[in-house]
Parts: sequence; C-alpha cells; structure tokens
Amino acid sequence: MPSVAIAGAGLVGALNACFFAQKGWDVSVYEFRKDIRTMKHVQGRSINLALSQRGKSALEAVGLREYIVNQGVPLYARLVHNKDGKTFSRQPYGKPGEHIVSINRRHLNEVMITQAEKSPNVKFFFEHKVKSVDYEKKQLVVQCTSQPSRIPTFGTRAASQDHAEIHVEADLILACDGAYSAVRRSLMTIPRFDFSQDYIEHGYVELNIMANNNKFAFEENVFHLWPRGHFTLIALANRDKTFTVTIFAPFSEFEKHMSTTEDVLSFFEENFPDAFRLLGKEHITETFNRVKPQPLVSIKCSPHSFFDNLVLMGDAAHAMVPFYGQGMNCGFEDCLVFSETLEEHDNDIASAVRAYSEKRVNDAHTINDLAMYNYEELKDLVNRNSYKLRKKFDTI
Ligand code: FAD
Repeated sequence: MPSVAIAGAGLVGALNACFFAQKGWDVSVYEFRKDIRTMKHVQGRSINLALSQRGKSALEAVGLREYIVNQGVPLYARLVHNKDGKTFSRQPYGKPGEHIVSINRRHLNEVMITQAEKSPNVKFFFEHKVKSVDYEKKQLVVQCTSQPSRIPTFGTRAASQDHAEIHVEADLILACDGAYSAVRRSLMTIPRFDFSQDYIEHGYVELNIMANNNKFAFEENVFHLWPRGHFTLIALANRDKTFTVTIFAPFSEFEKHMSTTEDVLSFFEENFPDAFRLLGKEHITETFNRVKPQPLVSIKCSPHSFFDNLVLMGDAAHAMVPFYGQGMNCGFEDCLVFSETLEEHDNDIASAVRAYSEKRVNDAHTINDLAMYNYEELKDLVNRNSYKLRKKFDTI
C-alpha cells in the first residue's frame, strides 16, 4: 500500500488520517503538541465551532457524521440582540429544520484521532515538530521534541536519523500544519508560488457564560449576535449548557475602551447589557486580566500542490477570518475533494495531486473572500433595514 505522511494532527490532519485509514494506506501523522487526549488544558483557538453542511459531508464519508452531529447543539437561526438588552430579531438560517451545529473543538479533534487510530496502519507521532520539507529529496524534516522518537515504525521510511531530527519519506505528503505552516514556509522560494497574508484590524477574546441551575442561560438553539458597528459579540451554546462568548473588536478599541477593569466593565454594560449580566463582573475582569486579544489572519496561496506528491490543506492553504464559520468546514471539504480526486485518478498520486490544485484553489479563494465579506455583515450590515428586507426573501 502507498504511504502518506501528514504534518499536523489538528482538525484537518486528523480527518485526513481517517480518510487514508479507510483506504488502507500506511499513515503517519506528525504533531507538534502532546496528545490532546492526555492533556488537562489545551491551548488554542475557539473552544467551539459551527459545523455546516460542507463539513458534515466530509464527516459522512468517514462514517463520523451522525456521531459528531449528535454531540453538538443545533443552531437554526441568528438571534440579533439589540442594545436595549431586551429586544431581539431572529434570522433563520434556512428552511424549517435546516441548521448548523455548535461543536466542541477539542472533542471533535479527539474523536477523529481515536477513529483513525483504530486502523493498525495509522500511527500518530505526538511531540514531533515538522521543521520543513526537503523538496528535492521529497522528505519531511521532523524534529522529535521528546526522547526517544518512535520513528521509524512502518510505512514512511526514515531516510536518516540525526540526533532528534528525522527525514521522513512518503509517497504522499499532506501539509495540515495550520495557518503558520512550516511546510508552506519552506516552499516560499519556489518560483511562481503566490502567497498573501492579511491581518485584519480586529482581534478576539473568548469568555464563558455558565449554566444557570443546570439550564442554558440563553436560548440554546440559535447563534447569538450583538452587532455594534465596528465591534461585535457572539455566543454559541455548548453541550454542558455553557455558552462560549467571543468579542471581536479592533485592537485600537481594546486598547482604548477595555484596558482597565473599570473601562471593560462599563464597555460591556453599555453595549451588551443582557450578556453583561450573565457573564458577571468577576468573570469579565478575570478574563481580561488573564488573556490578551488574539489576532486574526487571512491567507491565500496558489498552487496548493507541489512536485507531484505534496499538498497544502486546511489553514496551511487558506486560513480565513472566522466570520463565515467556514475555515474548518472548508478544510474538511479539502479532505473529501482530495479523496475523491484520488479515486477519479485510480489512485495515481501525481495526477491526483496536480488535478486537486486546479480544482481547489479558486474555491478556496472564494470562500476566503466570502469570509471577509461576512466580517462586514456580522459587525454591521445585519442591523440595516436593507439587509433585513433582503433576508426576508432569501430561501436560505
Ligand atoms: P489547525 O486547527 O491550526 O491545526 C494545525 C495542527 O498542526 C495543530 O494541531 C498544530 O499543533 C499542528 N502544527 C502546527 N505546526 C506544526 C509543526 N511545525 N509540526 C507539527 N505539527 C504542527 N471554522 C469553522 O469552520 N467554523 C467556525 O465556527 C470557526 N470558528 C472559528 C473561531 C475562531 C475564533 C477562529 C480563530 C477560527 C475559527 N474557525 C472556524 C477556523 C478553524 O479554527 C480553522 O479553519 C481550523 O482549525 C483549521 O484546521 P487545521 O487543521 O487546518 O489547522
């Protein structure tokens, strides 16, 4: 069977491992972090994510759709909270019954790793940092950050092992190592490789609303939104009856209005009075003392495929701002599209790798642009009458 080496065991790397486990390939996955299933706290981005049809279809192909969807909270509409803290407007996502699903990121990632690992042909190497790709030799350069490394085992062949640095060969290399991809970085000098990176002026901070007597503090089956012009607050329910609440605002706004305890409390009280009451002064103060606003980056590149055996996928290929809720969903679709492309090409790796990029780059750029557009919409346009009017006549 052919071998595939995957950089990164995040959402897209873990799903790719499930796809190739199913195909019976020899799969090795190199992940910088420890095994998240053994960790108490996992640092990283958003606690929960909105899973949409795009992502569900990919999960379906590896038999995980039903299980994952049942572990989430369905969201049927946006609920826009007005500034008085008492009135709302409801914007359904689609026809009755159509919904997206709020999913816990860590749980989703763990389920996919465990699912892939059920196949004896799949091995995860945690605490293995991909440093670069040696594209002349078609090898991943991996550094083991815990001793001793368990490489080589099977499938991928360790071409040489120098101290903790290992050169891994595989028939196919999939770079799923996120927005700051080490694999992509080592491709930067390749002629005609286009790359662009934009940090938007907004950052984000995550907070929590606790369960109220073991009940949801707000209506759970909607996406809560407090659009306030150039900043916005959102909240998504979790299965444990808490809400993950995220404020998106320009860094200048964080500095100007949220840098002292007094300021941040009056900012929340004035702009999001109903959320303010449920978040509580203590929690807001503690969070803003502990965490700094995180940046948001949008990345486009082209092509996504190289040397007949290397593909960039997920955020490594197309990190996008989170306002369209499509970063992970689009990454999941990458896995599905590549799997189907391999089948269409009778598992001929070189021709599938070439065809994939041709198919995928424009779609990825388009979703990236839509995400940027929705950034405008969520923070402001949903409040405008023209939008409300348009939404009334939308079928979706
Ligand atoms: P990542 O999730 O970043 O995973 C990359 C993995 O590679 C990690 O495990 C990392 O440790 C590992 N890694 C990194 N470097 C190396 C290295 N050198 N060697 C080995 N391993 C390495 N998307 C949605 O679809 N819906 C949403 O609702 C949504 N909400 C979001 C909210 C926020 C605030 C943010 C910031 C993003 C959101 N996204 C959402 C986007 C989503 O988080 C990403 O698109 C998704 O995580 C991409 O998955 P990935 O596997 O490509 O990258």
